[in-house]
Order: sequence, then C-alpha cells, then structure tokens
Amino acid sequence: MTRATRAVVSLSALQHNLDVARRAAPHSRHMAIIKANAYGHGLLPIARALHNADAFGVATVDEAISLREGGIPQPIVLLEGFSSAEELHLLRAYNLQSVIHEPNQIKLLERHTGKAVTVWLKLDTGMHRLGFVPGQCSGIMHRLVACENVEQPIKVMTHLSCADDRKSDVTTRQIAAFKVATSICPELHHSVANSAGILGWPETHYDWVRPGIMLYGVSPFTDSQGKDHDLQPVMSLHSHLISVKSLRAGDKVGYGGSWSAPKDMSMGVVAIGYGDGYPRHAKPGTPVLVNQQRASLIGRVSMDMITVDLSQCPDAKIGDPVLLWGKDLPVETIATHADTIAYALLCGVTQRVKYEYQG
Ligand SMILES: *Cc1c(COP(=O)(O)O)cnc(C)c1O
Repeated sequence: MTRATRAVVSLSALQHNLDVARRAAPHSRHMAIIKANAYGHGLLPIARALHNADAFGVATVDEAISLREGGIPQPIVLLEGFSSAEELHLLRAYNLQSVIHEPNQIKLLERHTGKAVTVWLKLDTGMHRLGFVPGQCSGIMHRLVACENVEQPIKVMTHLSCADDRKSDVTTRQIAAFKVATSICPELHHSVANSAGILGWPETHYDWVRPGIMLYGVSPFTDSQGKDHDLQPVMSLHSHLISVKSLRAGDKVGYGGSWSAPKDMSMGVVAIGYGDGYPRHAKPGTPVLVNQQRASLIGRVSMDMITVDLSQCPDAKIGDPVLLWGKDLPVETIATHADTIAYALLCGVTQRVKYEYQG
C-alpha cells in the first residue's frame, strides 16, 4: 500500500481568494506572490490557476525560469533582484523584472549593456532589511532614470514590517515615510501592500498590491483567521490511521516517554510526521480531525508518525481518514499550537507528500 499522506490543493479556493483581494483593492493591479514554491502549494499549478493575476512575484531566478519554461506569460518580478552579471543575463533572456535594493545591482545594470530591464526601486521605510533609505531615493532614482539599460518609467516600492498588527503605528510611519520619499515622483507606479496591507490598510493600495498568504486562504493578521476575511483554505493535509490500540493509565507514549496516559484510553497512530512537514513542536492537545471528529495529539511528533487521543472517537479504526489542517481545521490553529506561523507550516510540507489539485 502506498503512503496515504496527501496535500489536496483547491484551485477554486485559490481563485476565490484572489477575487477577495481584488474586491478589497479594486483600483490596484495584483502581483500574486508565489515564492517558496507558492508557499508550499506547487509553483506551476498555482501560477496556471492564477491566470488572471496581473504579475507574479518570486524570490529566486530559478523560480522565475521555471515559470517561463512552464509557459507563464505574465510579468515576473524577482523580489530580491539579481546579484551577478550571470543572473542579469538570465533576467534579460527570460524577460524578468527586478527589484533593485542595493548599489551593486545598479552598477551591474550600468556596466552590462543589453535589453532594457524593468526595475522596481525598493525603499526601506522602516523594516531595515532590504532597500535604500528615503534620503537616498532621489539620487538613486536619477541614476536609474539615466541608465540606458533600465526600462522607463521605473516603479517604486516598499515592504511593511508590522502590518499584521492592526494597532501598530509602525505602518502609519512607514506610509508617511514612503509618501515623503516618493513625492518627487508621483507619476511613477507605486507598490506597498502585502496581504495585511490589502485587507487592513487601504491607504497602502496604490497602483500595485502584492497578495501572498491571503491567496492561500490564511489571515495575515495575528488576531483573526482566514474565514473572518471570507478566505477559503487552499491546502488540506490528509493522512489516515495506521494503528488503533488501548493504553493503560500511566503508559508512556512516544520518544522520551514525555507523555503518559492519564487513564485507560484508546489511541491512534497517524501516518504523518515531521518528515512530511507536520511541525515537530506541535504540543500535546493540538487538534486533528479523525473521521471529521476532533481528536488531539499526544506524545511527541516523530519523523513518520504522530499519536492521537481517540477517547472522543470510539468508532475509529485502521484506515480512517485524518485531517491535519484544511477546511474545518485552520492551519492558523495548528500554527498556534506549534508556536509557529501558518506561512512556515505551508512552506514546510515536504517532497514525499503527494499533491492533488482540484477544481
Ligand atoms: C512575501 C512578500 C509579499 C507577500 O506577503 P504576504 O504577507 O504573504 O502577503 C509581498 N511583498 C514582498 C516584497 C514579499 O517578499
């Protein structure tokens, strides 16, 4: 028997979520962010299903080339840009656009003549990760405008560091800094919003928005879940019971024997573990759905298996379906129980899990 661990990806939910983004930011163009293998959902099937996205954003040149070789026609933006003459060459060969966030990239553009490249100038308005500080904006902009290897007009962007917290005043300050820095170029296309900006900060919408996590049905905010924003989960992670047994009070379960049965009880073993991307740090009590009934994790997560308390599922038997996250069991809930974020869980699903695309 082959292993039953599957990630079922709903392409209709994905399209619905893009519609939600479009309704929230109706006057903007939408660059769908599909870095990290489309947040673990599969780069090409996701890009194909998002055929009405206005552009795609990825992290690496390899991802961008896979998209082009897979026949994706939309503009593709490298969110971290390029870092060598070879990559610049690939950019031109595959007709890719690039974020520009540091001076070496401009030097490469000035030195290596060829087809003009579309660039997105990245400003650091407070995240202090990538980008030019606002004081450098006009100097850098003049260089890019003067460079014959740069397609005109250029575009200007920044990234929000705290938009997931709707009460944070950091976002307000980032918006103000962006406005001041870009007041010299109001005619250019501007882009600020990630998912949190789209749903929570209308003043960040500008010409282009960059939805990522919301496309996959997950809330970008720390205090809500996808369904609160009419988002539908795209990935459901499924497995099944491979063993059902009885425990006596005091029996210890799993590595380290860290969990012991408080009473005589029924226990199930599920064919999924951290080797599949189920989080090793999920704590006892993390919910799973066995036959759509709620059960909970006991003991430690192993590489290939987890153990669950079947006290509330008396009829459960070998072969019964188990849902680890998806519809009726938000991945955000699992992330909370594992002290992580939904982004990391989705990106972390491993190669040995079989993917099925529906809709
Ligand atoms: C990842 C990323 C996004 C999308 O962020 P979400 O929080 O997933 O919506 C947008 N812009 C940039 C530059 C990114 O790197």
